[in-house]
Amino acid sequence: MLSIKRVPTVVSNYQSEEEEESGCGRNCLGKCCLLGAKLPLYTFGKMKGGKDLNHEEIEAQGFFLDTLLLGEWEDRMRRGLFRYDVTACETKVIPGEYGFIAQLNEGRHLKKRPTEFRVDRVLQPFDENKFNFTKVGQEEVLFRFEESEDVGACFFQSARMEPTNAPSVVAINVSPIEYGHVLLIPRILECLPQRIDRESFLLALYMAAEAGNPYFRLGYNSLGAFATINHLHFQAYYLAVPFPVEKAPTQKISSVKGISKNEVKIYQLMNYPVRGLIFEGGDALEDLADAVSNACICLQNNNIPYNVLISDSGKRIFLFPQCYAEKQALGEVSPELLDTQVNPAVWEISGHMVLKRKKDYEEASDDNACRLLAEVSLTEERFQEVKAYIFEAIAAHGEVEDKPVLEDGDKVEARGSKPSNAILPGKEECVVLQ
Ligand SMILES: [Zn+2]
Repeated sequence: MLSIKRVPTVVSNYQSEEEEESGCGRNCLGKCCLLGAKLPLYTFGKMKGGKDLNHEEIEAQGFFLDTLLLGEWEDRMRRGLFRYDVTACETKVIPGEYGFIAQLNEGRHLKKRPTEFRVDRVLQPFDENKFNFTKVGQEEVLFRFEESEDVGACFFQSARMEPTNAPSVVAINVSPIEYGHVLLIPRILECLPQRIDRESFLLALYMAAEAGNPYFRLGYNSLGAFATINHLHFQAYYLAVPFPVEKAPTQKISSVKGISKNEVKIYQLMNYPVRGLIFEGGDALEDLADAVSNACICLQNNNIPYNVLISDSGKRIFLFPQCYAEKQALGEVSPELLDTQVNPAVWEISGHMVLKRKKDYEEASDDNACRLLAEVSLTEERFQEVKAYIFEAIAAHGEVEDKPVLEDGDKVEARGSKPSNAILPGKEECVVLQ
């Protein structure tokens, strides 16, 4: 049940009636302007059901995605905040085995915010002098998205930011690749670098769950896997067709038993040009978030670039370790592929090919898409190696009282041959200037 609060909320004794002039004058998302600002706030509750509230209640179905997120996104489009009109971009389904979706997006290439750092490491410290989301104007924010332990799912049209808040915001991507393209920026004022942690990943799962529509997916690109801003963010957009990767056959290879009754199941993609893992199940989103974020943390710590797709309203997570940028740096990618200037990030890997040249759009084919994705995928040998480290990281995680037990399926490679704390060789030689 969702409640809409239509009046500005008094959430703190610090709140004063008069508007005081403050900030740097740019109405930005930094501390200078955000503290004291009034923004819409959507809260979600981990406890479903909620309490009987005194203010007006409306049916939650469709509100978060249709009314709030897409409604506000369209409002920003009317206000001319995007760098181009993505709804005018041509899109088609490429005939063939996989049903790749091709989009011609000439504007993104030319008008994108430039990448301001060298992507040679998956983990890099936050640099306040580089572009980051605290420099964005508040008009790009659609709403704050935060957990509430007391009110549950609730929307406040205007909630004042207090010094004690740790705001997570949903903002437009000014260089959209699809309808409703937004960014989820967890705890924006903490200026976290692009790296997954359990809490932030869980927040992204909750956003997918609140949207409650399988055509609204979230994605994550690590540094070295075509993230272009080193400030923690997830992307999301709405596209009303299944992604090819969502239709690909899978095989169960393992499962994680923790304190939950329902284990988190791990599958492997079969017959898809990029090798990847799929995580599903668990009693609650927390179980799934724990398993996937442990896997991501393992990849980060071992300097392996990766992409994540949050699918099926947060119930199905795809994880793709990748090596395209590394091959690019080593001069191993063909000139034909490089000429397309397509950066294979989470959307391309999932089968939504965002093409920058009309020629590539017109000549788009199953074969061409597969050729690109084949360069993204780890080799079978390397994938087995990386998978073994991921499984070790998940199984070794002793955060819950009963240590998770990894049950090997028949396809899992023997893990006994590797020392438990082995570190994969870091790829320090991998330097990509984007
Ligand atoms: Zn400011």
